[in-house]
Amino acid sequence: MQQQSHAKETRMPLVDLHSHSHYSDGSLAPADLVALAARAGITMLALTDHDSVDGLVEAQAAADEHGIQLVPGVELSTIWNGQSIHIVGLGINPTEPSLQRGLAQQAQARADRAKAIGDRLSELGMPGAYEGALALANSPDAISRTHYGQWLLEKGHVTHVQQAFDKYLGPRKPASVPMPWASLSEVINWIKQAGGVAVIAHPGRYPLTRTKLRALLADFVAAGGEAMEVATATEKPEMIKYLAQLSRQFGLLASQGSDYHGKPAPWIALGRFANLPSGCEPVWTRWLGETLQ
Ligand code: AMP
Ligand code: MN
Ligand code: MN
Ligand code: MN
Repeated sequence: MQQQSHAKETRMPLVDLHSHSHYSDGSLAPADLVALAARAGITMLALTDHDSVDGLVEAQAAADEHGIQLVPGVELSTIWNGQSIHIVGLGINPTEPSLQRGLAQQAQARADRAKAIGDRLSELGMPGAYEGALALANSPDAISRTHYGQWLLEKGHVTHVQQAFDKYLGPRKPASVPMPWASLSEVINWIKQAGGVAVIAHPGRYPLTRTKLRALLADFVAAGGEAMEVATATEKPEMIKYLAQLSRQFGLLASQGSDYHGKPAPWIALGRFANLPSGCEPVWTRWLGETLQ
Protein backbone atom coordinates (compact mmCIF):
# COMPACT_ATOMS: atom_id res chain seq x y z
CA MET A 1 0.00 0.00 0.00
CA GLN A 2 2.82 2.32 1.01
CA GLN A 3 4.61 1.63 -2.26
CA GLN A 4 1.47 2.17 -4.31
CA SER A 5 0.84 5.64 -2.96
CA HIS A 6 4.52 6.50 -3.52
CA ALA A 7 4.18 5.37 -7.15
CA LYS A 8 1.09 7.56 -7.50
CA GLU A 9 2.92 10.66 -6.28
CA THR A 10 5.81 10.22 -8.70
CA ARG A 11 3.76 9.32 -11.79
CA MET A 12 3.82 11.73 -14.73
CA PRO A 13 0.31 13.00 -15.46
CA LEU A 14 -1.23 11.19 -18.42
CA VAL A 15 -4.77 12.18 -19.30
CA ASP A 16 -7.14 10.23 -21.57
CA LEU A 17 -10.61 11.76 -21.76
CA HIS A 18 -12.34 9.47 -24.28
CA SER A 19 -12.83 5.73 -23.84
CA HIS A 20 -15.49 3.02 -24.14
CA SER A 21 -16.46 -0.02 -22.08
CA HIS A 22 -18.82 -2.92 -22.84
CA TYR A 23 -21.71 -0.72 -21.66
CA SER A 24 -21.53 0.68 -25.21
CA ASP A 25 -19.38 -0.68 -28.06
CA GLY A 26 -16.08 -1.23 -26.24
CA SER A 27 -14.99 -4.79 -25.44
CA LEU A 28 -13.80 -4.39 -21.82
CA ALA A 29 -15.75 -4.23 -18.57
CA PRO A 30 -15.19 -0.87 -16.82
CA ALA A 31 -12.98 -2.50 -14.14
CA ASP A 32 -10.75 -4.06 -16.82
CA LEU A 33 -10.58 -0.78 -18.71
CA VAL A 34 -9.46 1.07 -15.57
CA ALA A 35 -6.91 -1.68 -14.76
CA LEU A 36 -5.53 -1.33 -18.29
CA ALA A 37 -5.37 2.45 -17.84
CA ALA A 38 -3.38 1.96 -14.62
CA ARG A 39 -0.92 -0.32 -16.43
CA ALA A 40 -0.60 2.27 -19.21
CA GLY A 41 0.36 4.91 -16.62
CA ILE A 42 -2.83 6.94 -17.05
CA THR A 43 -3.51 9.24 -14.09
CA MET A 44 -6.83 10.74 -15.25
CA LEU A 45 -9.34 8.74 -17.31
CA ALA A 46 -12.80 9.60 -18.61
CA LEU A 47 -15.18 6.76 -19.40
CA THR A 48 -17.39 8.10 -22.22
CA ASP A 49 -19.75 5.35 -23.34
CA HIS A 50 -22.18 6.09 -26.19
CA ASP A 51 -25.44 7.43 -24.74
CA SER A 52 -24.89 5.57 -21.46
CA VAL A 53 -23.57 6.27 -17.97
CA ASP A 54 -24.19 2.71 -16.78
CA GLY A 55 -20.49 1.82 -16.44
CA LEU A 56 -19.53 4.77 -14.24
CA VAL A 57 -20.18 3.18 -10.83
CA GLU A 58 -18.02 0.16 -11.67
CA ALA A 59 -15.35 2.42 -13.19
CA GLN A 60 -15.26 4.64 -10.10
CA ALA A 61 -14.78 1.65 -7.77
CA ALA A 62 -11.90 0.40 -9.92
CA ALA A 63 -10.40 3.90 -10.17
CA ASP A 64 -10.38 4.16 -6.36
CA GLU A 65 -8.63 0.81 -6.17
CA HIS A 66 -5.94 1.79 -8.69
CA GLY A 67 -5.48 5.39 -7.53
CA ILE A 68 -6.62 6.82 -10.88
CA GLN A 69 -8.77 9.92 -11.13
CA LEU A 70 -11.99 9.09 -13.00
CA VAL A 71 -13.78 11.86 -14.87
CA PRO A 72 -17.42 10.73 -15.25
CA GLY A 73 -18.33 11.09 -18.90
CA VAL A 74 -20.68 10.16 -21.74
CA GLU A 75 -20.58 10.43 -25.55
CA LEU A 76 -23.94 11.63 -26.81
CA SER A 77 -25.12 11.11 -30.38
CA THR A 78 -26.73 14.13 -31.99
CA ILE A 79 -27.84 15.32 -35.41
CA TRP A 80 -26.62 18.66 -36.75
CA ASN A 81 -27.68 19.72 -40.27
CA GLY A 82 -28.46 16.11 -41.16
CA GLN A 83 -25.00 14.97 -40.02
CA SER A 84 -24.42 12.71 -37.02
CA ILE A 85 -22.12 14.51 -34.56
CA HIS A 86 -20.83 13.15 -31.24
CA ILE A 87 -20.69 15.37 -28.16
CA VAL A 88 -18.71 14.21 -25.15
CA GLY A 89 -19.91 15.35 -21.73
CA LEU A 90 -17.15 15.44 -19.11
CA GLY A 91 -17.43 15.91 -15.35
CA ILE A 92 -21.15 15.12 -15.39
CA ASN A 93 -23.33 14.08 -12.48
CA PRO A 94 -24.76 10.89 -14.02
CA THR A 95 -27.84 10.87 -11.78
CA GLU A 96 -29.05 14.38 -12.73
CA PRO A 97 -32.73 14.05 -13.81
CA SER A 98 -32.71 15.93 -17.14
CA LEU A 99 -29.60 14.05 -18.29
CA GLN A 100 -31.28 10.81 -17.19
CA ARG A 101 -34.41 11.67 -19.21
CA GLY A 102 -32.29 12.47 -22.25
CA LEU A 103 -30.39 9.21 -21.93
CA ALA A 104 -33.64 7.23 -21.66
CA GLN A 105 -34.85 8.88 -24.89
CA GLN A 106 -31.59 8.04 -26.70
CA ALA A 107 -31.69 4.44 -25.36
CA GLN A 108 -35.21 3.93 -26.74
CA ALA A 109 -34.14 5.30 -30.14
CA ARG A 110 -31.09 2.99 -30.12
CA ALA A 111 -33.17 -0.09 -29.21
CA ASP A 112 -35.73 0.66 -31.97
CA ARG A 113 -33.00 1.26 -34.54
CA ALA A 114 -31.23 -1.99 -33.60
CA LYS A 115 -34.40 -3.94 -34.50
CA ALA A 116 -34.82 -2.00 -37.75
CA ILE A 117 -31.20 -2.70 -38.78
CA GLY A 118 -31.77 -6.41 -38.04
CA ASP A 119 -34.88 -6.38 -40.26
CA ARG A 120 -32.97 -4.70 -43.10
CA LEU A 121 -30.13 -7.22 -42.93
CA SER A 122 -32.63 -10.06 -42.83
CA GLU A 123 -34.31 -8.68 -45.98
CA LEU A 124 -30.86 -8.54 -47.55
CA GLY A 125 -30.47 -12.28 -46.97
CA MET A 126 -28.65 -12.20 -43.62
CA PRO A 127 -31.09 -13.55 -41.02
CA GLY A 128 -30.25 -13.69 -37.31
CA ALA A 129 -28.36 -10.38 -37.27
CA TYR A 130 -30.43 -8.83 -34.46
CA GLU A 131 -29.94 -11.85 -32.19
CA GLY A 132 -26.24 -11.90 -33.10
CA ALA A 133 -25.72 -8.21 -32.33
CA LEU A 134 -27.71 -8.53 -29.10
CA ALA A 135 -25.47 -11.39 -27.97
CA LEU A 136 -22.43 -9.12 -28.43
CA ALA A 137 -24.00 -6.13 -26.64
CA ASN A 138 -24.59 -5.54 -22.94
CA SER A 139 -28.34 -4.88 -23.35
CA PRO A 140 -30.89 -4.27 -26.16
CA ASP A 141 -30.59 -0.49 -25.76
CA ALA A 142 -26.77 -0.61 -25.99
CA ILE A 143 -26.68 -2.25 -29.43
CA SER A 144 -24.44 -0.21 -31.68
CA ARG A 145 -23.61 -0.43 -35.36
CA THR A 146 -20.21 -1.69 -34.17
CA HIS A 147 -21.93 -4.86 -32.85
CA TYR A 148 -23.59 -5.38 -36.23
CA GLY A 149 -20.20 -4.86 -37.87
CA GLN A 150 -18.66 -7.49 -35.60
CA TRP A 151 -21.48 -9.94 -36.30
CA LEU A 152 -21.20 -9.41 -40.08
CA LEU A 153 -17.46 -10.11 -39.77
CA GLU A 154 -17.95 -13.23 -37.62
CA LYS A 155 -20.46 -14.63 -40.12
CA GLY A 156 -18.11 -13.98 -43.05
CA HIS A 157 -20.44 -11.46 -44.74
CA VAL A 158 -17.56 -8.95 -44.74
CA THR A 159 -13.79 -9.27 -44.43
CA HIS A 160 -13.33 -6.42 -41.93
CA VAL A 161 -15.54 -4.15 -39.83
CA GLN A 162 -14.87 -1.08 -41.99
CA GLN A 163 -16.33 -3.02 -44.94
CA ALA A 164 -19.52 -3.59 -42.92
CA PHE A 165 -19.95 0.19 -42.69
CA ASP A 166 -18.99 0.74 -46.35
CA LYS A 167 -21.36 -1.97 -47.64
CA TYR A 168 -24.31 -1.99 -45.23
CA LEU A 169 -24.28 0.25 -42.15
CA GLY A 170 -22.84 3.59 -43.24
CA PRO A 171 -24.96 6.58 -44.32
CA ARG A 172 -27.22 5.86 -47.33
CA LYS A 173 -26.19 2.18 -47.38
CA PRO A 174 -28.91 -0.52 -47.52
CA ALA A 175 -29.02 -1.27 -43.76
CA SER A 176 -28.69 2.36 -42.66
CA VAL A 177 -31.59 3.55 -40.50
CA PRO A 178 -31.91 7.33 -39.97
CA MET A 179 -31.82 8.16 -36.28
CA PRO A 180 -33.98 10.54 -34.29
CA TRP A 181 -31.03 11.59 -32.09
CA ALA A 182 -31.49 14.76 -30.03
CA SER A 183 -30.39 18.16 -31.37
CA LEU A 184 -27.04 19.78 -30.64
CA SER A 185 -28.51 22.31 -28.22
CA GLU A 186 -30.58 19.65 -26.42
CA VAL A 187 -27.55 17.47 -25.64
CA ILE A 188 -25.45 20.48 -24.62
CA ASN A 189 -28.25 21.47 -22.22
CA TRP A 190 -28.39 17.97 -20.68
CA ILE A 191 -24.62 18.04 -20.13
CA LYS A 192 -24.66 21.52 -18.62
CA GLN A 193 -27.59 20.76 -16.35
CA ALA A 194 -25.62 17.76 -15.11
CA GLY A 195 -22.76 20.12 -14.23
CA GLY A 196 -20.53 18.93 -17.08
CA VAL A 197 -18.55 20.42 -19.93
CA ALA A 198 -19.70 19.76 -23.52
CA VAL A 199 -16.87 18.74 -25.86
CA ILE A 200 -17.10 18.17 -29.64
CA ALA A 201 -15.76 14.66 -30.20
CA HIS A 202 -13.18 13.95 -32.95
CA PRO A 203 -13.98 17.08 -35.05
CA GLY A 204 -11.63 15.96 -37.82
CA ARG A 205 -13.54 12.74 -38.47
CA TYR A 206 -16.81 14.11 -39.88
CA PRO A 207 -17.33 14.38 -43.63
CA LEU A 208 -17.48 18.19 -43.41
CA THR A 209 -15.66 20.84 -45.43
CA ARG A 210 -13.58 23.28 -43.41
CA THR A 211 -16.31 25.89 -43.90
CA LYS A 212 -18.97 23.49 -42.54
CA LEU A 213 -16.71 22.52 -39.64
CA ARG A 214 -16.39 26.18 -38.71
CA ALA A 215 -20.19 26.53 -38.93
CA LEU A 216 -20.53 23.55 -36.57
CA LEU A 217 -18.11 25.14 -34.10
CA ALA A 218 -19.96 28.46 -34.29
CA ASP A 219 -23.33 26.75 -33.61
CA PHE A 220 -21.76 24.69 -30.82
CA VAL A 221 -20.38 27.81 -29.09
CA ALA A 222 -23.71 29.63 -29.55
CA ALA A 223 -25.50 26.68 -27.88
CA GLY A 224 -23.17 26.82 -24.85
CA GLY A 225 -20.50 24.28 -25.83
CA GLU A 226 -17.16 24.93 -24.16
CA ALA A 227 -14.54 22.52 -25.49
CA MET A 228 -13.40 20.44 -28.46
CA GLU A 229 -11.13 17.45 -28.87
CA VAL A 230 -7.82 18.48 -30.40
CA ALA A 231 -5.40 15.58 -29.83
CA THR A 232 -6.95 12.22 -30.76
CA ALA A 233 -5.41 8.88 -31.71
CA THR A 234 -6.49 8.81 -35.35
CA GLU A 235 -5.66 12.36 -36.52
CA LYS A 236 -2.56 13.29 -38.49
CA PRO A 237 -0.23 15.98 -37.04
CA GLU A 238 -1.39 18.64 -39.56
CA MET A 239 -5.04 18.10 -38.59
CA ILE A 240 -4.16 18.32 -34.88
CA LYS A 241 -2.39 21.62 -35.57
CA TYR A 242 -5.45 22.89 -37.46
CA LEU A 243 -7.82 21.81 -34.67
CA ALA A 244 -5.58 23.55 -32.11
CA GLN A 245 -5.84 26.72 -34.18
CA LEU A 246 -9.65 26.40 -34.35
CA SER A 247 -9.88 25.88 -30.58
CA ARG A 248 -8.06 29.16 -30.03
CA GLN A 249 -10.13 31.01 -32.65
CA PHE A 250 -13.44 29.84 -31.20
CA GLY A 251 -12.34 30.28 -27.57
CA LEU A 252 -12.83 26.57 -26.88
CA LEU A 253 -10.94 24.57 -24.26
CA ALA A 254 -8.95 21.66 -25.68
CA SER A 255 -9.50 17.99 -24.85
CA GLN A 256 -7.51 14.88 -25.71
CA GLY A 257 -8.29 11.19 -25.78
CA SER A 258 -7.76 7.87 -27.51
CA ASP A 259 -11.42 6.87 -28.15
CA TYR A 260 -10.30 3.41 -27.02
CA HIS A 261 -12.75 0.58 -27.87
CA GLY A 262 -10.57 -2.51 -27.34
CA LYS A 263 -11.30 -5.41 -29.70
CA PRO A 264 -13.46 -3.52 -32.26
CA ALA A 265 -10.55 -1.11 -32.97
CA PRO A 266 -7.39 -2.97 -31.92
CA TRP A 267 -5.07 -0.42 -33.56
CA ILE A 268 -5.98 2.16 -30.88
CA ALA A 269 -4.16 2.00 -27.53
CA LEU A 270 -5.41 3.60 -24.33
CA GLY A 271 -3.53 6.82 -23.53
CA ARG A 272 -1.71 6.90 -26.88
CA PHE A 273 -2.11 10.05 -29.00
CA ALA A 274 -0.08 13.13 -29.90
CA ASN A 275 0.65 15.84 -27.35
CA LEU A 276 -1.71 18.79 -27.21
CA PRO A 277 -0.03 21.62 -29.20
CA SER A 278 1.17 24.56 -27.14
CA GLY A 279 -1.23 27.49 -26.95
CA CYS A 280 -4.26 25.26 -26.26
CA GLU A 281 -6.03 25.59 -22.95
CA PRO A 282 -6.53 22.08 -21.51
CA VAL A 283 -10.09 21.30 -20.42
CA TRP A 284 -9.00 19.07 -17.52
CA THR A 285 -7.04 21.48 -15.30
CA ARG A 286 -10.20 22.19 -13.27
CA TRP A 287 -10.43 18.52 -12.27
CA LEU A 288 -6.81 17.99 -11.20
CA GLY A 289 -6.76 16.62 -7.68
CA GLU A 290 -10.54 16.90 -7.33
CA THR A 291 -12.86 14.06 -6.42
CA LEU A 292 -15.70 14.02 -8.93
CA GLN A 293 -19.15 12.38 -8.63
P1 AMP B 1 -23.78 3.96 -33.41
O1 AMP B 1 -23.59 4.85 -32.21
O2 AMP B 1 -24.53 2.71 -33.09
O3 AMP B 1 -24.32 4.69 -34.61
O4 AMP B 1 -22.34 3.43 -33.82
C1 AMP B 1 -21.32 4.33 -34.05
C2 AMP B 1 -20.01 3.64 -33.77
O5 AMP B 1 -19.65 2.83 -34.86
C3 AMP B 1 -18.88 4.64 -33.63
O6 AMP B 1 -18.75 5.08 -32.31
C4 AMP B 1 -17.68 3.85 -34.04
O7 AMP B 1 -17.20 3.11 -32.94
C5 AMP B 1 -18.25 2.88 -35.07
N1 AMP B 1 -18.06 3.35 -36.46
C6 AMP B 1 -18.69 4.37 -37.08
N2 AMP B 1 -18.29 4.48 -38.36
C7 AMP B 1 -17.39 3.49 -38.55
C8 AMP B 1 -16.63 3.06 -39.66
N3 AMP B 1 -16.72 3.68 -40.84
N4 AMP B 1 -15.82 2.00 -39.48
C9 AMP B 1 -15.73 1.36 -38.28
N5 AMP B 1 -16.42 1.72 -37.20
C10 AMP B 1 -17.25 2.76 -37.34
MN1 MN C 1 -18.00 3.61 -30.77
MN1 MN D 1 -17.55 9.09 -31.52
MN1 MN E 1 -16.09 7.40 -28.82
